[in-house]
Amino acid sequence: MIKTIAGTKDTLPFEISKWQYFENFVEEVMSRFNYKEIRTPVFEETSLFARGIGESTDIVSKEMYTFLDRSQTSITLRPEMTASVMRSVLEHSLDKQQQLNKLYYISSMFRQERPQAGRLRQFNQFGAEAIGLEDPLLDAEMIIIAYDILKGLGLNSLEVKINSLGVPSSRENYKKLLRMYLDDKKGGLSEESKKRLDSNILRIFDSKIESDQKIMENAPLLLEHLDDGSLEKFETVKSYLLKAGVPFEIDPRLVRGLDYYTHTTFEIISRNVGSQSALCGGGRYDLLASEIGDRLIPAVGFAAGMERILLACENENCLVIPEDEVGVYIVRLNNDLYNETYNFALQLRRNSVKAELDYSRKSVKAQMREANKINARKTILFGGDEYTNNEIVIKDMKSGVQEKIGLSDIEKIISIIED
Ligand code: AMP
Repeated sequence: MIKTIAGTKDTLPFEISKWQYFENFVEEVMSRFNYKEIRTPVFEETSLFARGIGESTDIVSKEMYTFLDRSQTSITLRPEMTASVMRSVLEHSLDKQQQLNKLYYISSMFRQERPQAGRLRQFNQFGAEAIGLEDPLLDAEMIIIAYDILKGLGLNSLEVKINSLGVPSSRENYKKLLRMYLDDKKGGLSEESKKRLDSNILRIFDSKIESDQKIMENAPLLLEHLDDGSLEKFETVKSYLLKAGVPFEIDPRLVRGLDYYTHTTFEIISRNVGSQSALCGGGRYDLLASEIGDRLIPAVGFAAGMERILLACENENCLVIPEDEVGVYIVRLNNDLYNETYNFALQLRRNSVKAELDYSRKSVKAQMREANKINARKTILFGGDEYTNNEIVIKDMKSGVQEKIGLSDIEKIISIIED
């Protein structure tokens, strides 16, 4: 038997209503903030991600699904959306049509990670990107939208962590300081962190290895070496968050090691999902457009992992969706009315009624059982003497009340079903 590949998952019909509710809710909140949906291809040229995410990141160096297609072009299944969205904005000159493009997406991503609870190889993210302006209000807006969505789903154990990475010029001075600090300690660093000394020194803060963390405990912090302009922007973001009622804490060790990241960086974690606690991450990336394109476009965005959010919801008992309901189940009383029953159901369905019936010539008793099983609010008894008199019987499944109505009085039938 062929099965799903490790790290991928089917979403089965019994789980689908949660996903649909979740996706609709994301769309609704995004639309309130007037963000427009964008969809981009699932695969792109590998160089987009290599340049747009950075060769030294885990994603690009270890996790991408990259292959040569039949024409020997190197293709990669998207591991995240930001690079694709920025590529799209540049390619279609959306930035020239309006100064600020507010975009959102709900899409599948692909990373070859070691699968575990909350960590998949194909997973779904929703996210937003505000592309075109440097205003710190937009940095705050990203955090506000992400927080409002998570809160709106009913999650309570949320922690919002923010930091500022300033701009590359002040970061360069700081990196020298960090290098000096690590100079006589590098022997104690893990192999991974030793490699980062040259490729991506800030990322040593991300190390989960205890000995690395111990060394980094007393390291100088970027936040303490920001230029005045960056500090002022950071203060502005904080004040907007305070006004918006978003609780946050400053985490000076929250870093993204790439040069095109600027100013705000943030993460929202849940205390309720075990080791994979990051639900959402984002920040400002003013220099990405010039990395993959021909011009500078300031931008800020975030991405949130939907499977992890659903896990957090399960653990906190939120996002409880009412059971699926069917408006009416049509019980066929005599099997020689097979076609007539179907046509009657079709008429209701074409009039927007969610109607179900039996397709396998079951007994009346079995059809009634089925109506109960699928939570039909009403049943229609179709056949018998009533049918001979051009009538049907509608039964309310809760109260048991029955009513006889003319078969052709479709408007009345619909109004009773929907009552
Ligand atoms: P990133 O694009 O790495 O900043 O990730 C943004 C969010 O996507 C994370 O906070 C996670 O919630 C989610 N995420 C990242 N990688 C995975 C994965 N392999 N499986 C499930 N969710 C993930």
